[in-house]
Amino acid sequence: MQKRVVITGAAGFIGSHLSDALLDRGYAVVGIDNLLTGDLANIAHIKNRDFEFIKHDVTNYINVDGPVYAVLHWASPASPIDYLELPIPTLKVGALGTHKALGLAKAKGARFVIASTSEVYGDPLEHPQKETYWGNVNPIGPRGVYDEAKRFAEAMTTAYHRYHGLDAKIVRIFNTYGPRMRVKDGRAVPAFMSQALRNEDVTVFGDGSQTRSFCYVSDLVEGIIRMMESGENSPINIGNPAEMTIKQIAETIIEMTGSTSRIIYQPLPEDDPKVRRPDITRARTLLGWEPKVDLREGLTKTIDYFRTKVL
Ligand code: UDP
Repeated sequence: MQKRVVITGAAGFIGSHLSDALLDRGYAVVGIDNLLTGDLANIAHIKNRDFEFIKHDVTNYINVDGPVYAVLHWASPASPIDYLELPIPTLKVGALGTHKALGLAKAKGARFVIASTSEVYGDPLEHPQKETYWGNVNPIGPRGVYDEAKRFAEAMTTAYHRYHGLDAKIVRIFNTYGPRMRVKDGRAVPAFMSQALRNEDVTVFGDGSQTRSFCYVSDLVEGIIRMMESGENSPINIGNPAEMTIKQIAETIIEMTGSTSRIIYQPLPEDDPKVRRPDITRARTLLGWEPKVDLREGLTKTIDYFRTKVL
């Protein structure tokens, strides 16, 4: 029998790629989104496939008819500028939305996967970050609304696993990029690409020596689906361990777009993590997963997408 997967945040960047990949693997998909940061354009191409869309805010009770194999809770603002503009919706979807999504999974006897984040490690004092690290998070800083919502979501997910025996899984997603990120998303890759394609100044925050490790979206989605299909219940990092400075990624994007942009330096936002790189030993050994797409290949595909969006 065909398995049905419910994805909250299905009209978002990762949610829409997850929907595509699950449909390609023969799953039916029920996508839920309130379109706060998601966009129907991201899922327009699958409306005639085994895909049902429900416009709904998952901080309220979620109604889905029929059997469900898995609930993937992906709904959340995910860019630092979104947390600044939408602090309360960010907290609500991580807390109340996770509770509702867990309740749906429990009622359906479905497995559950929560989109957690490298932000649970905060500005990390351990490098690279292993799943055993508890993190260094400022609860009342500008990022606290996202970080603490996701930390609460992990605690709630673990409680449903321990107390209700729910087959619940936590994936900690590190920086990911690819087509369907919003032009005005504000995160480094979409910001630098839109600036470079317009030959505008590329805004590097701080001195650009802070590091991130960027994963192409198709690699991430493969890791998520392996986690969903696995018997694992403890958190797993999914990300690309190839670490670089923000100045390096800005320079690479300027070069690859053939732009005349120059880099300008702006103040580093409060609590901006200085380093970030996943230790993916667990993903490698438990899921047989590792990223395959190299940075230039992924950036080329993403630049092609941004060329169609940036005027
Ligand atoms: N950043 C930057 N210029 C921008 C956007 C982001 O220099 O226009 C920096 C940001 O300060 C951080 C890094 O790029 O050090 C990655 O930021 P992003 O917003 O992509 O995500 P984060 O990893 O901080 O959650």
